Amino acid sequence: MSPTLLSLAFAVALAASLLVKFWLSSRQVRHVASHRGQVPAAFAGNVTLAAHQKAADYTIARSRFGLLALAFNAAVLLGWTLLGGLSALNGWVLDASLALPESWQAMGYQLGLVAVFMLIGALLDLPWELWSTFRIEQAFGFNRTTLGLFFADMLKGLALGVLLGLPILALILWLMGAAGPRWWLWAWGAWMGFNLLVMVIYPSVIAPLFNKFEPLADAALKERVEKLMARCGFAAKGLFVMDGSRRSAHGNAYFSGFGPAKRVVFFDTLLAKLNGAEVEAVLAHELGHFKHRHITKRIVLMFAMSLAGFALLGWLMQQPAFYLGLGVVPNLGAPNDALALMLFLLAGPVFGFFVTPLASHFSRRDEFQADAYARAQASGHDLSSALLKLHEDNAGTLTPDPVYARFYYSHPPAAERLAALAS
Ligand SMILES: [Zn+2]
Repeated sequence: MSPTLLSLAFAVALAASLLVKFWLSSRQVRHVASHRGQVPAAFAGNVTLAAHQKAADYTIARSRFGLLALAFNAAVLLGWTLLGGLSALNGWVLDASLALPESWQAMGYQLGLVAVFMLIGALLDLPWELWSTFRIEQAFGFNRTTLGLFFADMLKGLALGVLLGLPILALILWLMGAAGPRWWLWAWGAWMGFNLLVMVIYPSVIAPLFNKFEPLADAALKERVEKLMARCGFAAKGLFVMDGSRRSAHGNAYFSGFGPAKRVVFFDTLLAKLNGAEVEAVLAHELGHFKHRHITKRIVLMFAMSLAGFALLGWLMQQPAFYLGLGVVPNLGAPNDALALMLFLLAGPVFGFFVTPLASHFSRRDEFQADAYARAQASGHDLSSALLKLHEDNAGTLTPDPVYARFYYSHPPAAERLAALAS
């Protein structure tokens, strides 16, 4: 592999992904704008023209914002790689690490490099997050968070990143340096263990840092939900209501945790909008994902992809062309593990983008299966009316561009879902 060839492949992949993204988004904007004037016939009785137009405006505003963010992020990526940003940062952190005691230098330099890189990334993201939350979400009446809460969330996220992220990063970097040519197998094991740990502690330790969880108090709803779960042969350790309304008006329901520690969590915003039968149908849909083992399949797929990723990284990091081709001069007197890891995380998604339609396709297939399960165990009619309410509430467009939806949508467009439920 020659550096020039890799630079070229990277530049071509980046340009191609940008072209595809711009093309898809402009299709979406045009399609939604041209159908803005009229509610589609299938929804005429259920959706008002005002709601339809709000959804169109929201979709267009987010798409346009997405295009700006896309161009900005591509420029940042080029800056880090081919334009030499990461290489310059690397030289600077390497120099600074010489101030550390000698036995700490190698690890201190590597952790420092990743930490400074992440910090710069977070700062570059911040204005976009602020604009998205306090301009766009605000303008459409969805934002409920305050600047104080926004920054408190950010600081908590940062503290979690340091507390959880830094140790696993140090462990992986140590394995890369000390575990021999098969380090990637060990590192993969460590990474999987870490992921499982996070999944286990998420409901009881991490989620409560950001939200309040209270046992579901509505006795009638509780009985309804418990009957459904018994009917489906499903055990969970408690039904909870989460104060999602602290941050956003968007509603949701989900399961979290593992095995017998599984919890059912309803957003308070969901319970405020749906009646008991509709909540039951939404929950039955989620149970459908479990019954069809979609969650397990996703976890197994994630494990397999990580293994392939670590193996690929193990090979790439031994090729000088991997660094030079992505604009970085590898170190001679210090380990290159952190550099390789970062380049891999920067360049990987550029190539990975092209499998998006495949992932979307399988995700939509899972959603149809979960809908069918909900129709069998609860009621297709109630699920339809719940979906309509949630759709309207999230200002999801009823008229997406078909090509855009095929490419990106993890859930089938509302028209297809309702048609399948009614068939
Ligand atoms: Zn689903």
